[in-house]
Amino acid sequence: MTSPIYLTNETRQSNIQPDLLIDHALVISKDKIVDVIPQSSIHNLYPKTESNVEITNLGQSLLMPGFVNAHCHAAMTLLRGVNDNLSLQDWLDQVIYPLEQKFVSDEFVYQGTQHAIAEMLRSGTTCFQDMYFMPDQASKAVHEAGIRANIGLMVVENKTSWADDAEDCISKGLKVRDDFKQLDLIDFSFAPHAIYSVSEQTLEKLVMLSNELAINLQIHLHECPTEINDSLQKHKQRPFELATKLALLSPQFNTAHMTQLIDNEIEEIAQSGTHVIHCPQSNLKLASGVCPVVKLLDAGVNVAIGTDGAASNNDLDMLSEIQSAVWLSSRAIHDKFEGEVNILEETHLNNQPSLTAYQGLYAGTMGGAKALGISDKVGSLEIGKQADFISIDLSSIEAQPVYDPISQVVYSTSRDQVTHVWVAGKCLLDNRQLTTLNESLIIKNTRQWQKKISSYLKSL
Ligand SMILES: [Zn+2]
Repeated sequence: MTSPIYLTNETRQSNIQPDLLIDHALVISKDKIVDVIPQSSIHNLYPKTESNVEITNLGQSLLMPGFVNAHCHAAMTLLRGVNDNLSLQDWLDQVIYPLEQKFVSDEFVYQGTQHAIAEMLRSGTTCFQDMYFMPDQASKAVHEAGIRANIGLMVVENKTSWADDAEDCISKGLKVRDDFKQLDLIDFSFAPHAIYSVSEQTLEKLVMLSNELAINLQIHLHECPTEINDSLQKHKQRPFELATKLALLSPQFNTAHMTQLIDNEIEEIAQSGTHVIHCPQSNLKLASGVCPVVKLLDAGVNVAIGTDGAASNNDLDMLSEIQSAVWLSSRAIHDKFEGEVNILEETHLNNQPSLTAYQGLYAGTMGGAKALGISDKVGSLEIGKQADFISIDLSSIEAQPVYDPISQVVYSTSRDQVTHVWVAGKCLLDNRQLTTLNESLIIKNTRQWQKKISSYLKSL
């Protein structure tokens, strides 16, 4: 594979520099990266005459680690665009929960996850975390597609089409883990929906199981102001205080959203090694708030990026998510959100985004790998690591000239420029064609769901 090649190093996320090699080649064998060499030495070191050598010249492309989408509800792709312009709680109560009650089934989750994987592969995502019902169906879709995933074992107290209650969610989830845990590309985590939808007793049990089984725990936390206000009224404490009391905070704990944070909470997150998954577009769409990414990075917190589900985004495009994260981190925006008086002066003094393009890219690759506990395997292009990487075409009119490939990718690249995707050394997107998924069948299935859901909505 030819270059330029972007690599990431294990360095402090708030103060990192890209490691960019020009005119280099990546050498892979089976599922691993085995060498990174100058292009000029390819033919000497790996002569084409050897039958097991295959050389792919990708022209003026950037090779980089695949994106790690650290928070997603894959099957909800089937609900993309059913309703807009609602705040989080109204959107959940009036739209999502009733539709899920009516339509979520094995087939819904399997076909919805397939659609999501197709979209993610076509936009350069090589690994995603999922939080949804029927994790057996999601695991099946992941395994067949060959993408890497962390399947969250969703836990809620109320009866759903997946389970009768939280206890049932846990026992069914653990069975799914037993059935699929031998697969190399699938990991599992516990995924209690939120502090407000799962009891203290259940959360305590999940903390115990998470420690015992050494698997991550991911939850929606401090997503919007209503969540904080409701908790203050009901429990006289912020959800974060409850999470701390229940010993949730740890390097195995992933918190999605975190738009409402005060300084001492940021300090506790940093000290505990808890990861924060920033989902900027979903937070904007549902008017939830903005995660204080720069403060978190300055405190030493690992920040990852997630798209959330396509129903609240409305896509699974990590490139645009990273771009949004970088722009939203602008000091001017945060000064405004935090109510400081000196907005204009600050804007003049510091009119650049506070997050660099590379920090955004790092959060969308290595940050996600760290959060999901797989940074020893993926997240960067290093010898010995898994060959999870993508190729982005920088030769088109929209991409030229290229002064800085990292800047180009973050500020002016669209997902259509992702030409190739490899996961564990296997090419899953070849010149924009999916190799393991039937794109036309996926579209046909999704259209059938759209017809069913549309006619149900009309009948209400
Ligand atoms: Zn979510």
